[in-house]
Amino acid sequence: METRKLEKHESTLIEKVLFKIAKQWIAGDTMEEALKSARNANTNGMNAILNKLGEHMTSKAQVSQTVEDYLTLVSNLRRSKITGGLSIKPTQVGLAISTKECLSNLDTIIEKALEFQSFVWIDMESSEYTDDTFKIYQNLFEKYERLGVVIQANLKRTENDLCMLLKNGSKIRLVKGAYHETPKNAYKTRHEVDENYKKLMNVLFEQGNEFAIATHDSKLIDLAMELSKKHEKKFEFQMLKGIRDELKPILVKSGFEVSEYIPYGTNWLPYSIRRLKERKRNILLLGSSFIHAHRV
Ligand SMILES: Cc1cc2nc3c(=O)[nH]c(=O)nc-3n(C[C@H](O)[C@H](O)[C@H](O)COP(=O)(O)OP(=O)(O)OC[C@H]3O[C@@H](n4cnc5c(N)ncnc54)[C@H](O)[C@@H]3O)c2cc1C
Repeated sequence: METRKLEKHESTLIEKVLFKIAKQWIAGDTMEEALKSARNANTNGMNAILNKLGEHMTSKAQVSQTVEDYLTLVSNLRRSKITGGLSIKPTQVGLAISTKECLSNLDTIIEKALEFQSFVWIDMESSEYTDDTFKIYQNLFEKYERLGVVIQANLKRTENDLCMLLKNGSKIRLVKGAYHETPKNAYKTRHEVDENYKKLMNVLFEQGNEFAIATHDSKLIDLAMELSKKHEKKFEFQMLKGIRDELKPILVKSGFEVSEYIPYGTNWLPYSIRRLKERKRNILLLGSSFIHAHRV
């Protein structure tokens, strides 16, 4: 009994410490807080991309609630005159239930977003969902032009996917990839992922238009700036809330289009763990905060 009590106390403590660190990446629990962060991004010359936290939803009731939340969010963006759009994870709107469910829910949200001229991005999750996500994207992109999809530089398949996506003028966000993948389908070293990112970025500048370079990596951002001098393309930089905040105003001041990805909601744990793992310093910070919390 006592051991169980102690374990519960420890896990609450870990969650509390984690939340203290995670707060920097998240607007808050509520839609109002998300709208406030979005307004702030606009004031600083950036567009806002809002995401309601949550993934791998298998309950229809939960999925329906998420769809409702996105519909309300779209109306509120418009009412608050916020420049920006949405980014949606397929498994929060039904992909963990079925492709049909996800397609129909995205259709509903995008139709509403289009009424208000908001752009919608479909996030890319782990590789088990890649094929279905592209299928859903292609299907919806035939109807809605203001729709983008994500490609991940850590996946070996991405070069071919990019080629396929460019054929119909898809709108693409290039990222390194945040999910754990096996060596069979993914590049595992930082060097390999960065090299593939550069290769894919070159293809985007040569053959694409209206794409997003989503990274906080200065080497890659510098390369994008170089490529943009050679190729006149409509593109934007995208960064996550709370990361490289010193660089964002510099890019805005230099005349680049910049969007900030702003997540909100109570389901903050999986997103925050991905952010923690991306940087050794964050793990160290977690360790030292935990030791500190234990002392008091
Ligand atoms: C707008 C946006 C949308 C995204 N959408 C998706 C998606 O749909 N699917 C997907 O798999 N991934 C997505 N990602 C995440 C992406 O795949 C990477 O995991 C993430 O961006 C970290 O990679 P990086 O390119 O910044 O490079 P890294 O090499 O990880 O980081 C480069 C530098 O950025 C800074 N930095 C990076 N991460 C952190 C951090 N957590 N805390 C503090 N500093 C940090 C550090 O200075 C670091 O040296 C998205 C990223 C962005 C910016």
